[in-house]
Amino acid sequence: EESTFRTRQARSLELTREAREYLAGGVASSRQSTAPHPFWVDRGVGSRIWDQDGNEFVDLHGGHGAMLVGHSHPAIVRAGAERLGLGTHFGQPVPDAIVVARNLSERFGLPQWRFNSSGTEATHDAVRLMRAITGRRILLKTEGGYHGHHESVLVSLSNSGDELGPVSRPASPLSGAGVLREFADWTRVVPWNDLGVLESVLEECGDDVAGIIVEPILMNFGMVRPDPGYLEGVRALTRRYGCLLAYDEVKSGLVVDPGGATALLGVRPDIVCLAKAFGGGIACGAIGGTSEVGEFIASGKYLQIGTFNGNPLHMAMSRAALTEVLTPQAYATTYARTESLARTLGELLSASGRPGYVDSIGAKGMITFAPHRVATYRDFLSVNQEIGRLHWLFQHNRGVFMPPWGAGQPWLVSVQHTDEDLDLVAGNFEELVARMPK
Ligand code: PMP
Repeated sequence: EESTFRTRQARSLELTREAREYLAGGVASSRQSTAPHPFWVDRGVGSRIWDQDGNEFVDLHGGHGAMLVGHSHPAIVRAGAERLGLGTHFGQPVPDAIVVARNLSERFGLPQWRFNSSGTEATHDAVRLMRAITGRRILLKTEGGYHGHHESVLVSLSNSGDELGPVSRPASPLSGAGVLREFADWTRVVPWNDLGVLESVLEECGDDVAGIIVEPILMNFGMVRPDPGYLEGVRALTRRYGCLLAYDEVKSGLVVDPGGATALLGVRPDIVCLAKAFGGGIACGAIGGTSEVGEFIASGKYLQIGTFNGNPLHMAMSRAALTEVLTPQAYATTYARTESLARTLGELLSASGRPGYVDSIGAKGMITFAPHRVATYRDFLSVNQEIGRLHWLFQHNRGVFMPPWGAGQPWLVSVQHTDEDLDLVAGNFEELVARMPK
């Protein structure tokens, strides 16, 4: 499969070599590298993208899970082009910001919003806000949970614990380089779905805990739901200890439900972080908060700033995405398609007798090649990545671009995918399992 990849992607290899002269490692961002080498894209329309070698792919990677609207959607193109013609940046608000904030309020049930430009900025705002509002120092996060690339959250992304439980440490010698031990010390790590450990940490240092940040449905080591009662328990404990609860819905927001996991699961946080899908394909970020959080920001005690915050292009594209593209009808068909793909793949996998399971939530789906369900980050570390890697290459060589295999990233079905697109994915998978030695 590797040599097929290299043959089909010859121009991409040339570009990678050329790029190394000016781009560190030959790519514009570390997560742009796919193995055996990056592939360079030309364009995307609907559910498909074309690379520089002229190969066509059904896109299930979705730009790191951001392209729920699909590529070059006419409504998004129209909104973006109109705005380009009117000017894209003034450092002053535009009325689209009200439309977007109102729409997000209705979806997520949180009344007050602010904008920024990425998921990292959104979680950075959330963490600093929780510290500012409570006047406390410690942040709690889930072991293995990814929340962007700032110091407070780039902690314990590798197996960080001994047998006694997780300990905080900079992400890993590789990805945590540059995160000071002293910084990591102010982030305490708790295992997912374990209210007992959370309670004992809060008993120990709860009077200095500013808040906890969680993905309400974990999306960075597979897709892991909260156990029944877990989020309710987290909410109750944060209330008891006077700390805040922030949901990182950068991945799940707008995708698992029109109102994210907040609406789907019915447990309301104090702050929700959004990015990815709500930009309609452009760099975006947002935080939503309760009226108390909104009042704190409005009081001027917290500096929620950024040159391009709420910029007109972001606002225009978000407005078009939220009001014209991500309609109830579009959600209904996309969710039905995603579920049907997951069902088909699941049946093929179980008929093959190989260990693993397939899951979908809303427009997200995932195949996990493991004998047991992944419930914690430590379970995820034992997943067979070899089959995952082979599956990625096999699909890629047959016209499907999947999320990278080792990083536990679910795929995304956009509102522009068709049954034919997903039949190709299922057909490839069927061929792969038939060919693999028993
Ligand atoms: N939080 C979560 C849950 C994410 O998955 C990501 C990105 N994958 C981020 C935050 C960071 O977002 P960004 O890459 O836009 O900074």
